[in-house]
Amino acid sequence: MWKSVTAAALSVAIVATGAEVLSNQPKTVDAAETAAEQTKAASIYIAPIDRAEFLAGAKFDFRVELNDLASDPGSVSIKINGKEASDVFGKPYEKTSTDKSREFTVRDVAFSVPGTYTVSVRAGSLSKTVKYTVNAADASGAKAKNVILFVGDGMAFSNVTMTRILSKGLTEGKYNGLLEVDKFDQRAVVTTSGMDSLVTDSANSASAYNTGHKSAVNGLGIYPDNTASSLDDPKVETLAEMLKRSRGMSVGVVSTSEIEDATPAAVVSHTRRRSDKPEIAEMLYKLQPEVILGGGSAYFLPQSTPGSKRKDDKDLIGDFEKSGYTFADSATSLKAAPADKKLLGLFHTGDMNVYYDRSTKNKDALKSFTDQPNLWDMTQKAIDVLSQNENGFFLMVEGASVDKQLHTMDWERSTYDAIEMDKAVGVARKFAEKNGDTLIVVTADHSHSASIAGTYWEGDGKSGREAVRTYEAAKFPDYVDANKDGFPDSPDVSRKLAVVFGATPDYYEDYKFSKVPTVPAVDSDGVYIANPASLSNPDDPNKDRFLHTGTLNPKTDSQEVHTADDVPLMAYGPGSEYFQGTMDNTEVFFGMVNSLGLNLTGAKADTKKWVNVRDFANLLGGTVKKNDSTNKVSITVNGQTLVLNLTSGQASKNNKIVKLEFKLDADGQVVATSSSLLAALG
Ligand SMILES: [Zn+2]
Repeated sequence: MWKSVTAAALSVAIVATGAEVLSNQPKTVDAAETAAEQTKAASIYIAPIDRAEFLAGAKFDFRVELNDLASDPGSVSIKINGKEASDVFGKPYEKTSTDKSREFTVRDVAFSVPGTYTVSVRAGSLSKTVKYTVNAADASGAKAKNVILFVGDGMAFSNVTMTRILSKGLTEGKYNGLLEVDKFDQRAVVTTSGMDSLVTDSANSASAYNTGHKSAVNGLGIYPDNTASSLDDPKVETLAEMLKRSRGMSVGVVSTSEIEDATPAAVVSHTRRRSDKPEIAEMLYKLQPEVILGGGSAYFLPQSTPGSKRKDDKDLIGDFEKSGYTFADSATSLKAAPADKKLLGLFHTGDMNVYYDRSTKNKDALKSFTDQPNLWDMTQKAIDVLSQNENGFFLMVEGASVDKQLHTMDWERSTYDAIEMDKAVGVARKFAEKNGDTLIVVTADHSHSASIAGTYWEGDGKSGREAVRTYEAAKFPDYVDANKDGFPDSPDVSRKLAVVFGATPDYYEDYKFSKVPTVPAVDSDGVYIANPASLSNPDDPNKDRFLHTGTLNPKTDSQEVHTADDVPLMAYGPGSEYFQGTMDNTEVFFGMVNSLGLNLTGAKADTKKWVNVRDFANLLGGTVKKNDSTNKVSITVNGQTLVLNLTSGQASKNNKIVKLEFKLDADGQVVATSSSLLAALG
């Protein structure tokens, strides 16, 4: 378990000097922060932030900012455990300033020794202290060779339930079957807030999974800084970067969204602004994941090519091909791609279409993209390519439109995509079962506000709100899956789920499936109003629709929004026991590096199980005596006595030298490996 590793790591902690406790005291938040908001009082910002956790050897940029200065603060001291920070890192500060700020940055550094670190900054009358914990990954226990992380974007607990209802159905209250994710033994609850906001976006949360650090809304692989540029913010290394440089592992990024979208981008990117999509495409090229599958070709094409969204002549598809990648642009070419070459598959200029529209060949939605692969075929192909690497692989697979369709409150399209991802999880599970060396983690990055209130049934002539049935009137929905493909044959059944949304703009609700995807609200002179187009669908009488008055600010929110509710996590495979209880989203990163036993410092891990000899003897009803004058310890168990000479480091039994691994631990207690103790005692 990680927690015990942390405890062990703490025992070798570099002891903090403890001089700076001032700003560690609980402050009178209200007064201080109100004052700060009114006058923008001078302040110190340190990145990484307080309580950040690091994997030993993981790279990051360290930055101290003095902001909103009214006058020169005079001398500035930046200490880590009492030593000058630039000396600790062995690099000089990159110093910058404006009329109101001063910055001290050291890039591309790492803490290689596990322990706790206290950063204390003093600048004139200002001071701030933050504490870091540096962890070593557990090197004992079963280890994973590969890690597959599934992110059902926005897949709240309620969405998992909708997925199970539509995919499996239930009879007299018991489900007729379980989802793949339901069958995972290990489960946890994940909290998702970012450093700047209770409610996260996908960039911020995916970044936490990939780096172990919090970020801010729209941030990827960075801590935000005070400059306008989005590409210079202090970076934190991503798991994919660590695995490529330290282990030569392969990396795969698979999504149904644009591959530059927040969740897939988090695997490789460092930017304050998730909308830097042309740059994110270049970051993909820089890291060169062995498999890249998704939409978003617009940012790979030179500006002269129709459909391009680049503002330059870079031809990234051409560049990838020159680097040995096979390029696929359709389900057919994906299928034909060889497994022994790196693979770039871009199946849409924008987001890929949703499963419902792909599988029903909905021409209105697909337009010219009529041959897009589904997520489980993409997952299978990714595994085929990545598993060629004997060093193992890290694969991130995103069911992206679970989220995108919830924003427009098209919960049926969202749920079909969640079923699609569940089937992709099944593909991964099959691979993991065969080889026994793959950790699979399935989670979401944040919640949405959809809940199941009951069913919608017009069977007795009622319609609109009067046809929403609750409690015993709801009975059960009657979705049918005649072809047993795991998807309901139609989302339009006589008794369907009544799904209600809590965090919405004004919109028209009718509880019915939209054959044509629509947006809930439109801009009318700076205010978002319920989309009048929803009223003018000739196939659907207006009487069933009613205005659902929104709960959000009509000047800022045109869509349903993310919520702060905790999200589910399910895990399977070696290291999965780490995932239990309530976890912060940054801990998911540590669960993955723990399962890999990822050691970035080159230090040889102590994998031996050391036991206190006194505890060992007590357990077996024996005794331990220490003779201080001879510096010898004798352990007597079952009439057998071992004598440990603490001066020579040798052990003996009946005056004969025996093999025994023993030493003094950090507290001066005698410890030995239990296996060698048992062997020596015979
Ligand atoms: Zn979203």
